[in-house]
Amino acid sequence: MKVALLASTNDPDELACKAARNDYTTEYVADRSFEEVMEPVDGETVEEKKASLIAQLMERGHYGPFEHPNATFAVKGISRVCMAQITRHRHASFDVQSLRYTVPERGSDIREAVVVPPSVEEAGLVDEFLEGCERQFDLYHDLIDEDSPKKYRGDGVTPPEDARFLLPMATKVNMVFTLNARSLMHVADMRAAADAQWEVRELTDRMLELAEDWMPVTFETYREEMLGRKNRLAP
Ligand SMILES: Cc1cc2nc3c(=O)[nH]c(=O)nc-3n(C[C@H](O)[C@H](O)[C@H](O)COP(=O)(O)OP(=O)(O)OC[C@H]3O[C@@H](n4cnc5c(N)ncnc54)[C@H](O)[C@@H]3O)c2cc1C
Repeated sequence: MKVALLASTNDPDELACKAARNDYTTEYVADRSFEEVMEPVDGETVEEKKASLIAQLMERGHYGPFEHPNATFAVKGISRVCMAQITRHRHASFDVQSLRYTVPERGSDIREAVVVPPSVEEAGLVDEFLEGCERQFDLYHDLIDEDSPKKYRGDGVTPPEDARFLLPMATKVNMVFTLNARSLMHVADMRAAADAQWEVRELTDRMLELAEDWMPVTFETYREEMLGRKNRLAP
């Protein structure tokens, strides 16, 4: 699996702070510098003020300001199992590679086409697992291929969008998705937990690492104060 930050809001910690300060001042935040907006907040430096305001927001459950900064992730090579799990989160926008148009050609390296769970490797069953996947890919190609020698093809070819019903859940897909910082923390609440499956946990861990570079004050505070606790970001 590969995960990259494709696009993101600039100065996301500042944006969340400005939005939060808007709630507690009669001044118009757009007319004031960040230093002026943060002036009444506890802390000596502007960095300290940012950290103390963000910690306060999290502690009080005031999560709205974290909905303004957005991040777009590009993910390569997750299984359709993991794709089904992550796309259950409704406060994110997804684009998923279509298997109607992008199934690997016959004879491609099956190892490149599917995700092998670590437990299969640990059990020494990789060859059997890959053979099973390859059979499903072969059958897919037999159904769509006009020149297939297989007799069971019937009278006509099957359209790829129907033949793909045969493909294994292990089939790799790429995905682009966008979500705001609050949703990202909620996804992490749900998916970084030990009872989530290993692949979606790995995806979430990579997203959190990238988020810590992108929005360091918020995501470092989240990791230290919130991650793994019961006071989740959504009921
Ligand atoms: C370990 C694990 C196992 C799971 N197993 C299964 C399973 O076997 N079968 C299955 O179907 N799903 C399963 N799920 C998925 C789970 O039930 C959720 O659908 C998924 O995690 C999305 O999270 P969310 O419900 O918090 O919604 P999100 O879409 O991430 O929304 C965030 C929050 O917004 C609020 N919200 C959003 N939409 C609504 C709404 N329509 N009404 C009220 N509040 C809303 C809720 O507070 C919600 O928590 C599993 C999840 C985990 C983590």
